[in-house]
Amino acid sequence: MNYKIVKIRSNHSVSKQRPILIIYTGGTIGMVQDATGSLVPFNFMKAMEHIPELSRIEVELTVISFPKPIDSSNVSIEVWQALGYIIHENYDQYDGFVILHGTDTMAYSASALSFMLEGLAKPIIFTGAQIPIGMLRSDARENLITSIEIAVNQRNGRPLVKEVCIYFNLGLYRGNRSQKMRSSTFAAFDSQNYPLLAESGIDISYNEAALAKPN
Ligand code: ASP
Repeated sequence: MNYKIVKIRSNHSVSKQRPILIIYTGGTIGMVQDATGSLVPFNFMKAMEHIPELSRIEVELTVISFPKPIDSSNVSIEVWQALGYIIHENYDQYDGFVILHGTDTMAYSASALSFMLEGLAKPIIFTGAQIPIGMLRSDARENLITSIEIAVNQRNGRPLVKEVCIYFNLGLYRGNRSQKMRSSTFAAFDSQNYPLLAESGIDISYNEAALAKPN
């Protein structure tokens, strides 16, 4: 698939800070209401203006946006290939990756990417939202900001998370062990056969025993 990639370096960049790549694929997180009140996909750089706090995060953010954001019910194998390719091409330049994706098939994409990207030594965090970023009670702000924080967290100069995960509603889940369970509450995801990898509260507390430890 021939994806035209729009690469935008955010003006929140501060040199010498840790570089994180955000890949925006679509989903509810980046939608806005049109004149009729229907939700339509939106330019994500514009949508990011709804989170002014991003300028206070101590990271250098780069955003790659799919030219035509998609509902995740339309995610195909070509989209997985495009995500794998973007991460492969940019792997060395970034400390971590955050993929913004619709919730409906997020668990499938996270699972596919976890098998495509073997031997990861960096975090790949999928997230999204149940309510679009510009709406009053949106969960996008917390999901995005904490995902970026998890993507940047290191210990002794090495990333704490070295696998494909989903971060949603205060929980970090292993990508290939997660499932969307609910569409009408913020707690959309669960992992029924693997413990939470981290929980976000006042601090982010990592479940060290459960995190992947690749050689
Ligand atoms: N239908 C949307 C999607 O999966 C729902 C969401 O983003 O939560 O793209």
